[in-house]
Amino acid sequence: MACRAGICVSVAIGCAVGPQLALAGPPSPGIALFAPDSEWIKHRVVAKETLDWIAARYGVTRSQIVRWNKKKLGTKAWIYAGQKLSIHAPKPVPPPRVKVRYRVKRGDTWSKIASHYDVPLKQLRAWNAKVPRAFKAGTRLVVWTNPAPVPIKSAKAGEAGEVAMPSFDVESGGLSIGKPNRGSLQRGVPLPDSEMYLVRDAEKAFGASHAIEQMLTAFANFRAASGYEDQLVIGAMSLKRGGRFRPHRSHQSGRDVDIRMPRKPGRKKIKSANDIDWGMTWGLIKALAETGEVEYIFMSTSRQRLLYRAARDSGASRAEMAKLIQYPGKAKTNKGLVRHAKGHDSHIHVRFKCAGDNKRCESY
Ligand SMILES: [Zn+2]
Repeated sequence: MACRAGICVSVAIGCAVGPQLALAGPPSPGIALFAPDSEWIKHRVVAKETLDWIAARYGVTRSQIVRWNKKKLGTKAWIYAGQKLSIHAPKPVPPPRVKVRYRVKRGDTWSKIASHYDVPLKQLRAWNAKVPRAFKAGTRLVVWTNPAPVPIKSAKAGEAGEVAMPSFDVESGGLSIGKPNRGSLQRGVPLPDSEMYLVRDAEKAFGASHAIEQMLTAFANFRAASGYEDQLVIGAMSLKRGGRFRPHRSHQSGRDVDIRMPRKPGRKKIKSANDIDWGMTWGLIKALAETGEVEYIFMSTSRQRLLYRAARDSGASRAEMAKLIQYPGKAKTNKGLVRHAKGHDSHIHVRFKCAGDNKRCESY
């Protein structure tokens, strides 16, 4: 895997199980761990998390965390959700977690669910303190879970089943109906809370299960491979039931999403192309493409030129660039995953493919 300019997005995340996960609960077989370049990481505290659990997650001790964050924590060492802690993590580091909702099935027990998600039982109980100990089928539980690896799709011949890619247990049943500009969304799934991104407006961030799963996978791979630590910001996806969503023309069927391009470190706003981190943008686009489930990514031609340069500088091959970027072709050239569409100067618009088993989803 070639790593230049800090970018080395690849689908191969073949690290072995680290001791830190084993401490956090029974390890799932072959869980993929990530190894970012930076050893100092920022951990965002999730609800009900304790210092002991964070320590176990990274394979460090509680007192080390207290020492590294002395100023923030004070003598009482209180932590709260959303707080950021600096941790000097030994490699490899576990991937960021996502919050999912689990629907209890017949025959489930607390410990069965905890071990399914590879989280400590105590933690599972704490996240769902209001749920009675004897729950019923159909009860919804909150779980902050690690992404679990699944065999990669057989599109990459010869590699099927050998390379692990993380996937996320996203609420199922969210279906894209019809076309992106003339369609709707059935049982729209809200974008889960995640350490990986910020959702601008939750009312406008519903999607099809398939699209959300692919997006989370790409984000996790991108962050892991690039070491990008700033927040990814999600603009509009679809309304809960999809359909007309002004001022957008598409975004109707839960498989279109607007993502702000990664900024250069220290830049607050994207005022010009110069505020965009093009190397990171290329990394993000590669990670999205690697899911194999992206139909298009829209970006203005003037911006594609900068993306093209960043790709070249990071060592991308001509063939790869031709496959992924329309530029230097003209705006109407029918080539490249990244295509021109007006107004996409500071955000990209990603359109995911229809789920393979969804017959009611249509493309143009
Ligand atoms: Zn859009």
